[in-house]
Amino acid sequence: MLSFMAGSLVLLQSLFVGNTALAQQKKQAFDYSDLLRSIEAGEVRKITIDPSTNIADVYLEGTKDNESQQVKLFNQNPELIAKIRANNIDFSVQSLGASSASVINLMQVGVLFLLILGLFILIKRSASSAAGAMNFGKSRARFQMEAATGVEFKDVAGIEEAKEELGEVVTFLKTPDKFTAVGAKIPRGVLLIGPPGTGKTLLAKAIAGEAQVPFFSISGSEFVEMFVGVGASRVRDLFRKAKENAPCLIFIDEIDAVGRQRGAGIGGGNDEREQTLNQLLTEMDGFEGNTGIIVIAATNRPDVLDSALLRPGRFDRQVMVDYPDMNGRLGILEVHSANKKVAPEVSLHTIAQRTPGFSGADLANLLNEAAILTVRKRKEAITMNEIDEAIDRVIAGMEGTPLVDGKAKRLIAYHEVGHAIVGTLTKGHDPVEKVTLIPRGQARGLTWFTPDEEQGLISRTQLFARITGLLGGRAAEDVIFGDGEITTGAGNDIERVTSLSRQMVTKFGMSNLGLLALEDDNQPIFLGNDTVNRSDYSQEIAEKIDQQIRSIVFQCYENAKQIITENRPVIDKLVDLLIEKETIEGDLFREIVEKSNSKPLEMAKLSN
Ligand code: ADP
Ligand code: MG
Ligand code: ZN
Repeated sequence: MLSFMAGSLVLLQSLFVGNTALAQQKKQAFDYSDLLRSIEAGEVRKITIDPSTNIADVYLEGTKDNESQQVKLFNQNPELIAKIRANNIDFSVQSLGASSASVINLMQVGVLFLLILGLFILIKRSASSAAGAMNFGKSRARFQMEAATGVEFKDVAGIEEAKEELGEVVTFLKTPDKFTAVGAKIPRGVLLIGPPGTGKTLLAKAIAGEAQVPFFSISGSEFVEMFVGVGASRVRDLFRKAKENAPCLIFIDEIDAVGRQRGAGIGGGNDEREQTLNQLLTEMDGFEGNTGIIVIAATNRPDVLDSALLRPGRFDRQVMVDYPDMNGRLGILEVHSANKKVAPEVSLHTIAQRTPGFSGADLANLLNEAAILTVRKRKEAITMNEIDEAIDRVIAGMEGTPLVDGKAKRLIAYHEVGHAIVGTLTKGHDPVEKVTLIPRGQARGLTWFTPDEEQGLISRTQLFARITGLLGGRAAEDVIFGDGEITTGAGNDIERVTSLSRQMVTKFGMSNLGLLALEDDNQPIFLGNDTVNRSDYSQEIAEKIDQQIRSIVFQCYENAKQIITENRPVIDKLVDLLIEKETIEGDLFREIVEKSNSKPLEMAKLSN
């Protein structure tokens, strides 16, 4: 309370002082050259200068002491001082008013600030009252409406099939009559299915943009509130508003948040969610023939959706929006580099090759990171250096500072060179792109491999090679430092090894257990329609699975250790180089390994 009072006092005071300051400024008709002239003409009686504001109060002959002319001075006025002296004028420097003058300045700033603040609040308020037109009843509608999204199909790249399928929806929205004339029913709902960041929202906006209709959007999670009934009333409001603006497009993001199977979920159903879902279904059924509203929903969990949502007349069209392939990535990079300054030698093709598994959002983010790095380095245009750095950053996190030379650094160097050399000397392994000791994210050193092609099908040899390469780090620690010195650094490697080898046995039929799918890991437990039985096999089979996994990992580890043992001299050399340079590029790495006459190791047949 105290502080509030003080605040309003300051406000009053500053308004007051602000006014006097204004009045004082008005008197400034008298300027510096007038002053010089008056001094020479002997018309000046007295001058006081305030050094804090650099304003001189000039008292002319024949004026009273409260009638002064104010003159703004420059910083250095040797000429003026000399003239004052020469003319014997009463002259003083008064810093008494100084503090009060600077206070006045502060006050002026304060007033200005308050005015701007007030203006801002006013604008905010009028904006929200305009938006208030969309607020209905007691529900605080949280949907957004964009009259024109400004997104076009050409802004969406790499998901051509989806675009093609949705081209028709644009026609529905633009000319619904064409369809109703021949008695065709316009689809009501389209479900976009795909992982995050692949451009589902963007695609929905592009449809609205192409059809030039308003875009209403809401996220499924916003429907589901703590208060019962709010979700359902939001659905009602949304559809009512949409009908008023038809033709238009309604976009429901994360529909799985409302559209989960009813009666599912651990701990029983969620009444609120069910009501919301029911309302949604009712609204969608309630469309008359050609209301011109199309509902597009997005999800990355189609498996959990209530089947009622997928029935004809609801979301009966489903469009997959998947990760882009190499050409798709190229297209997306083209879209997002169009508005950036990119050096001519940068090859988008190379970037697309280096980024398998990146979503559209990742690629957009990648180019943006590169642009930021370019600014930071004060360069004119984005070069391949920034792009490389940005890719590493997107994949592995921020760069840290390298360790100082010491035992820990040597051990990490051996670990990384271990991965790289085992990868290089194992048939079927992706080539090393670089080895580095510069930490990134959680990792204290990293070995990068270039995936050879789009990773569609992976052979057994490749899987073995991958497991062996992953074990190369630990194998190096073990062989070189002894098994008492092995570290926790291999934790992540081992996790991936376990998952890969388990999948080989239980999913891909690549072990002696034969062609059996023993695990279905697509069924998360929280699905809850039935308690999912994760192991459909007997205890005996479970033991066999474990044994097979262990045998794969053992075999690969032995191979990795053999490579390390046989190539000790070149490993030592590479470690020295790595510690010195911090990074070794793949080409140099391979060259050094080849010169040492190391032989690739054939993967021995699994025997058991
Ligand atoms: P989703 O809704 O599937 O999670 P978004 O549509 O929100 O993904 O994508 C986020 C951002 O990533 C977009 O705004 C866009 O900049 C970029 N992006 C994603 N996919 C694409 C694509 N196929 N073409 C162009 N840009 C894309
Ligand atoms: Mg989205
Ligand atoms: Zn490792």
